[in-house]
Amino acid sequence: LVRVENVNKNFGALHVLKDINLTVSRGEVVVVIGPSGGGKSTLCRAINRLEAIDSGTITFDGQPLPAEGKALARLRSEVGMVFQSFNLFAHKTILENVTLGPIRVRGIPREQAEKRGMELLERVGIDSQAGKYPAQLSGGQQQRTAIARALAMDPKMILFDEPTSALDPEMVQEVLDVMIGLARDGMTMVVVTHEMGFARRAANRVVFMSEGQIVEENTPDEFFTTPRTDRAKDFLSKIL
Ligand code: ATP
Ligand code: MG
Repeated sequence: LVRVENVNKNFGALHVLKDINLTVSRGEVVVVIGPSGGGKSTLCRAINRLEAIDSGTITFDGQPLPAEGKALARLRSEVGMVFQSFNLFAHKTILENVTLGPIRVRGIPREQAEKRGMELLERVGIDSQAGKYPAQLSGGQQQRTAIARALAMDPKMILFDEPTSALDPEMVQEVLDVMIGLARDGMTMVVVTHEMGFARRAANRVVFMSEGQIVEENTPDEFFTTPRTDRAKDFLSKIL
């Protein structure tokens, strides 16, 4: 579904992505881990074309990523993104947050969008909160709203950038459970996270990124039990 080939990205003098190669197949769950500043967020943003790359190619569904216009809008609707900081519309209700995209971007009639929105809120376990505003919800509920909002666009894949890092510990699992459910249902997912329990249960592959490079790529079992590089061993010794 996604093919990243020899991709390089610089921020000024800083070489943030160094010859990155990565493919993500349909239905696959890829967990990206690694030390801070290693380029994980930049890679996610590049796949969504929130960030332009300097060289190399990224294709989605066989097509090079469009740079602008309707094709870019379509890409953004097909590649959902869930951020650490929820990014909900503060002055819209939970249901409005979920229906806004389908109504405005997809032109779906309000009634139909609301019906589907309620189904999605039920799927993530917060249909009873539909009329509230984001600030009235817990962090875990807000993040589940963000996931429902991404799903409302019927994406072909969802990128998650540290979706549980901003949450109080007791709310982490409710969000991970929703993500594990999506993974089981066959959603294609790229997930930047340090939640090793999630990686072990849901990932098909773990990609370890450090200093702008993919240093190691393996099944979760192999990666956690027998990391091959010193950089991965060192990282794991700090987080496990
Ligand atoms: P973290 O685990 O802290 O989220 P990360 O692996 O996601 O780290 P990135 O956010 O991709 O890392 O950042 C990689 C490098 O690029 C860092 O050194 C960061 O400071 C730099 N960087 C990221 N975005 C920008 C930007 N817009 N302008 C300049 N430098 C940037
Ligand atoms: Mg990041």
